Amino acid sequence: MRPEKNEMMWRPMRLCEAHDAGKYEARWLRVARAARMEVRELGTGEGGRVLCLEGRGAGGPGLYLSSGVHGDEAAAAAGLLLWAEARIDYLRRQAVTVVPVFNPAGLRMNTRLDGEGRDLNRMFHLREDPLMGSWWRVVEGRRYGAAVCLHEDYDAEGCYCYELNEDAGLRLADRLLGSVEEWVPRDGRRTIDGRRADRGVIQRRRVPALPGLPEAVALYRAGVPVTLTFETPSEMEFERRVRAHAAFVEAAAGEIENLK
Ligand SMILES: [Zn+2]
Repeated sequence: MRPEKNEMMWRPMRLCEAHDAGKYEARWLRVARAARMEVRELGTGEGGRVLCLEGRGAGGPGLYLSSGVHGDEAAAAAGLLLWAEARIDYLRRQAVTVVPVFNPAGLRMNTRLDGEGRDLNRMFHLREDPLMGSWWRVVEGRRYGAAVCLHEDYDAEGCYCYELNEDAGLRLADRLLGSVEEWVPRDGRRTIDGRRADRGVIQRRRVPALPGLPEAVALYRAGVPVTLTFETPSEMEFERRVRAHAAFVEAAAGEIENLK
């Protein structure tokens, strides 16, 4: 991806500041101001505020983006920020919801779990939880065309994508992975995380019953027609992982405009 002209904020997050939740917040607030996005607070804790940014643009269908649900997956959060800073115009005109750092305490501590030792990505069914409750209040009234959840995986051998899609023929993940390969090659394993995979794509129309609900599954069950969980290999060079996440979001944002 290339930064748009007149874009002054184009500067990738450096590895040394990749777990500084305050830096993310400051830069996302600048994005919100520049893109005229509405900022609300989903929750707050010792790690900082969990912000949710919403574009006021009418362009749709809407796109949902999140990262940092797991705090030890910093390239996902840094990649989403990198993309947003280069795509102010897109954020200004489209209906977009962004939760840029879902787990600031985990990000600070470099842990998968949050400050209370919980895996947030198994908690999206818990509407009585204050953080999950305020998240549901935001997303429930929206009509999203797609949702993108950015993650990283220590076991991965390349990038891969878990696609939940009502339209099995769309094969969105395969195209999107094609646009990140210049940064991170695909995970070639035939089985990923216990599921059948084909060139880095795990595609499902129906979801199995799960004990704790991940974000992407919650959104799919709530009516978002396609959800994409993108994963990069945690052990690969940081900069390449960051670029891969930014490139994935860039390609997904382009696809969602074409879905209109
Ligand atoms: Zn994760």
